[in-house]
Amino acid sequence: MKKKCKNCPPRCEGGNKCSRKAEISKRNEFFLDIWRKNKHICENCGKWLGNEPLSYHFDHLLEKNKFPELKFEEFNIFLTCLDCHSRKTNGFISEIVQNRINQVKLKFNIL
Ligand SMILES: [Zn+2]
Ligand SMILES: [Zn+2]
Repeated sequence: MKKKCKNCPPRCEGGNKCSRKAEISKRNEFFLDIWRKNKHICENCGKWLGNEPLSYHFDHLLEKNKFPELKFEEFNIFLTCLDCHSRKTNGFISEIVQNRINQVKLKFNIL
């Protein structure tokens, strides 16, 4: 019998078929693609993000919990430094971020 993964839903088949691992590698590739295509600067404050992509650099403008259909949508990703990411998480939305959020809503017809 295959070993089930600890944090996986009961339907996970484990090993290479692990749904959570598949999701993570899909996400990493999605982020990496964006990382390669863009300048590594915070889109909010212009700070240099370095050469190494870290997960906090990629912020979902429309939250992935509320808009799972936009989870792998490039237009919904905002490159950000840690400071700006935490500020947004804490509810401080800058004008730049708000404009981008509005653009995403417009593009995907979200009211
Ligand atoms: Zn699993
Ligand atoms: Zn920043």
